[in-house]
Amino acid sequence: MRHNYLSTQLLNESVNRDALTGIHNRRMFDEHAARVWQQATRAGVPLALLMIDIDHFKSFNDRGGHQAGDACLVKVAGVLNRASRRPLDLATRYGGEEFAVLLYDARRERVEELCRQLHASLASLAIQHPAFAKGEHVTFSIGAACVEPQAGRRVEGLIQLADEALYTAKERGRLYGDRKSVV
Ligand code: GH3
Ligand code: MG
Ligand code: MG
Repeated sequence: MRHNYLSTQLLNESVNRDALTGIHNRRMFDEHAARVWQQATRAGVPLALLMIDIDHFKSFNDRGGHQAGDACLVKVAGVLNRASRRPLDLATRYGGEEFAVLLYDARRERVEELCRQLHASLASLAIQHPAFAKGEHVTFSIGAACVEPQAGRRVEGLIQLADEALYTAKERGRLYGDRKSVV
């Protein structure tokens, strides 16, 4: 009970929250990632990480203004937060217009399904991109990776894999607009 109470406190502390969007911040990500890495290693379950980056966000700000950019970030954060509801899952604002979603005990199929859901729920918000033609909405690219943590390895390896997948997703997204996630 006490342990639960303490973790709940930790999750809700404002120092662990992003001031603009209200979702968890980078500091919380680092802390939580190290902790669930240990736990997943002991339990022998896979961990997955999604790195999510809003597409063409600089031109969104340049044309729409910084305040509209902020409002867009809040909406995107809401999409990610609603999608990570299991107790050990965590959606965070990783920095700027980049978000990270960490999933405990998640395999590739669940990750691929979640990527599809995320793209669909952002699309359903239909946020007009101010630098593009009417009806062109804000999108994001997702790079994801799943690993079974091994003793002696560190969570940084998972972050690196997801980052590389995001890079590939960006490259592909520019080529084929509808294929914006890479697992
Ligand atoms: P790409 O499609 O390759 O991801 O390009 P991009 O324009 O999204 O990426 P880039 O890194 O060039 O620009 C990121 C932009 O995000 C620039 C910065 O002004 C904006 N940004 C970062 N943090 C905030 C914020 O807190 N509020 C607002 N309004 N904009 C932000
Ligand atoms: Mg970026
Ligand atoms: Mg971007």
